[in-house]
Amino acid sequence: MVDTVHILGAGLAGMAAAANLKSKGFDGKINLYEASNHIGGRCYSFISPYLNVKIDNGTHMMLKANYNLLAFLKIINSTKELYPFFPKIKNSSYNLKKLWNLGVVSALNTKYVNADKFLFLKTILKALQNPHPLFVKNTLEDLLVIPFNNFAKTHNIQIKYGKKCIGYEPKKLIFSDTMLELTTKDVVIFALPQRSFARIFNLPILPHNPITNVHFLLKTKNNSFNFVGQTNGLTEWFKVKENILSATISATNTKDINTVKNEAKKIFNLNDSDFTAHTIICEKMATISQDKETILKRNKILELLPHDIIIAGDWTQQDLPCTMEAAVTSGFNAVKRI
Ligand SMILES: Cc1cc2nc3c(=O)[nH]c(=O)nc-3n(C[C@H](O)[C@H](O)[C@H](O)COP(=O)(O)OP(=O)(O)OC[C@H]3O[C@@H](n4cnc5c(N)ncnc54)[C@H](O)[C@@H]3O)c2cc1C
Repeated sequence: MVDTVHILGAGLAGMAAAANLKSKGFDGKINLYEASNHIGGRCYSFISPYLNVKIDNGTHMMLKANYNLLAFLKIINSTKELYPFFPKIKNSSYNLKKLWNLGVVSALNTKYVNADKFLFLKTILKALQNPHPLFVKNTLEDLLVIPFNNFAKTHNIQIKYGKKCIGYEPKKLIFSDTMLELTTKDVVIFALPQRSFARIFNLPILPHNPITNVHFLLKTKNNSFNFVGQTNGLTEWFKVKENILSATISATNTKDINTVKNEAKKIFNLNDSDFTAHTIICEKMATISQDKETILKRNKILELLPHDIIIAGDWTQQDLPCTMEAAVTSGFNAVKRI
């Protein structure tokens, strides 16, 4: 009989595991240990000192086919924070190869030449079940952080901030400041990014790819939401919401503001005077690289793990690319193992 579930990492995978456990009627204690001072992991919002408004670290696109993600959002009562919108594609709408390239780099965050095409095919097949795109209506904080905090308060889920796990022994969890003795009634879920998990278990850290987002503050507010992809440029996707224009460049670390701005000007018919400020956020380790070699290495790591270690995290799902859906699915799968 399990008394307490200890979840390491309060990103989507850890939050999904906790919410799923409670929705299945687990009435024991759940402790979520988070190294940083916020939940949500790679999905976060903050007030930009350059733009003076709250923005998300990056545009997070979801699909109606992300069934587990939607189930999680339903548990925490935040599906109302989703916004359905079908993107437009500019430039080479009729060039299938370029469209395919755009799909691959966007889904796998890996340059087309290196990307694991088999994983992309699996991704496409799943997406086709219900390919309608969904976006965040307000911010990731409104979609994930606030609803999950409310859910945690009413469901006996304790979130412990600043708790960085640095080691594990069969009956001991070692944090940077404390140690936790485990009994047979405790279960641990490691819902960590690959690099953190690798450090604890002395495993290789897999190659990662960055995602760059450039957020521009526009002089005037747009009443309509817009999401546009392009197949012939540095930027893959542009999102316009009110007076923020966000550009996403996958698998690339760039500071080339001029090119991104010129592309945005062309697509939205804007002038230099329409832009008042900008900020660049490059997440250097946005996801593991989803090339064939790295995926094989990842699979080997997973195969060789001791059977009593329960893990979660976007990188652990072999049939999905590293996305929000993969993170939530991994959290749900971890619960099945308990
Ligand atoms: C810029 C950007 C854009 C993206 N766009 C999309 C998109 O459009 N669509 C999509 O589906 N996905 C997108 N993703 C991917 C998606 O955000 C991730 O796949 C997902 O958030 C991963 O969740 P996770 O819980 O697996 O990991 P994380 O979010 O990394 O959560 C892990 C948590 O563990 C904590 N932690 C780390 N080490 C320790 C430790 N030693 N002890 C305790 N806690 C620790 C971390 O602080 C973190 O909170 C994007 C990612 C980025 C960065």
